[in-house]
Amino acid sequence: MAGSREGAGSSPVIREAEVLLDGGSVAAVGRALTVMPGTRLIDVQGQLVLPGLVQGHLHLGQTFFRGLAESRPLLDWLRERIWPLEAAHDDESAYWCTLLGAAECLLGGTTTIQDIGIGPGARGYLKALVDSRLRGLGGKCLMDAGDGLPAGLAEDTDTTLADTENLGEEFDGSNGGRLRYALNPRFILSCSDDLWRGVLDLARRHSWPVHTHALEQKAETELVRTVKQGRDEIEYFDDQGILDTDLRIAHGVWLEERHYPRLEQARFSVVHCPSANLKLGSGTADVVGLRGAGIPVGLGCDGAGCSNRLDAFDELRLAALLQMVRHGPASFSGHDALSLATREGAAALGLARQIGTVEVGKRADLVVLAAERPELWASPQADLHDLVAFSASRAHVRHVFVDGEQLVEDGRLGHLDLDTIRREADRSCAALLERSGIEF
Ligand SMILES: [Zn+2]
Repeated sequence: MAGSREGAGSSPVIREAEVLLDGGSVAAVGRALTVMPGTRLIDVQGQLVLPGLVQGHLHLGQTFFRGLAESRPLLDWLRERIWPLEAAHDDESAYWCTLLGAAECLLGGTTTIQDIGIGPGARGYLKALVDSRLRGLGGKCLMDAGDGLPAGLAEDTDTTLADTENLGEEFDGSNGGRLRYALNPRFILSCSDDLWRGVLDLARRHSWPVHTHALEQKAETELVRTVKQGRDEIEYFDDQGILDTDLRIAHGVWLEERHYPRLEQARFSVVHCPSANLKLGSGTADVVGLRGAGIPVGLGCDGAGCSNRLDAFDELRLAALLQMVRHGPASFSGHDALSLATREGAAALGLARQIGTVEVGKRADLVVLAAERPELWASPQADLHDLVAFSASRAHVRHVFVDGEQLVEDGRLGHLDLDTIRREADRSCAALLERSGIEF
């Protein structure tokens, strides 16, 4: 296979090449490729091609809450705004809220997500994930305990476990296998010991991964120690058997080196959410340290309710800049940042064999950037990965493919009508705010 992939096989960026698709997978990458019967050529000469970006922690069910919960630390942000708003969701509002967020993700080059879901409205949310045609993992968000939970959000333990199992059996593998189900206990402070035991049982019986929040903010971690007999999150998960599942935690800001030996033995990954961590004043995760310990790290925007934008380009740039502040400017490259949003992000979600690089045999999840824009001009001596990581933005996303299906063409969604989504979002969000009873 001829061509000019930049750097070694793990390079996330391709320039001056064509991509040949065979159904939903990549058949060849290079120049002057032969189009065989049943294959399809994407001519991306002169443009930049990346693997579809992977966001490992999202709350698409919070997209309506953008700008409605500003200037609060985590626990106040949850109790005063986010939980009452989530409690007011129904299937209809959840559907349009999720589809609105999914549209933003796709237009910005995100093709795979891991979303932690919502409680009320979970069925509408899952239906929207299917209709979005994004690849990813989602599931009902589980809560049954804790201070400050509004009525309707804390469910009876057995009821919520039965509901998540039913939804998982219905939606796992749907959308042609693009959507996989995940068990989403929200975080330790809103889940009882019995709920964690139930999650462990479901994880074992269905081989579903567990996605939760942990070690996000210092006050949260201190509260966990208070209510869990002096144990921190990792010690608690270890005692509960949760570290024996396929566990993905969002944040991990307060993970320490003493945790690493235990985590290295586990199926465990961290999803770093730099914008959310800055916006809520949580701190900075030690991504260099985690990667050095061999712990898979992905990236996520968290939700529009805290980080305001669901832009993977923002996150990867910010991830690099924060590590440069923490460890020095040589500690993190543009290649490292792109890797978190592609190859390593895919590995953090257990999808490394299917996606994360543009290479023969993998699924054709691709992003094509408009390289002719002046801000993407650079001399040939400049590193291509630094150019994309530090100069590109979602404004440069021209085409997006998932499984070889073109979902964005020339910056416009093909399969979703944005005008309808916006109109239905206006209507269903107004009704949700009314139901929430919050006075803004
Ligand atoms: Zn989150």
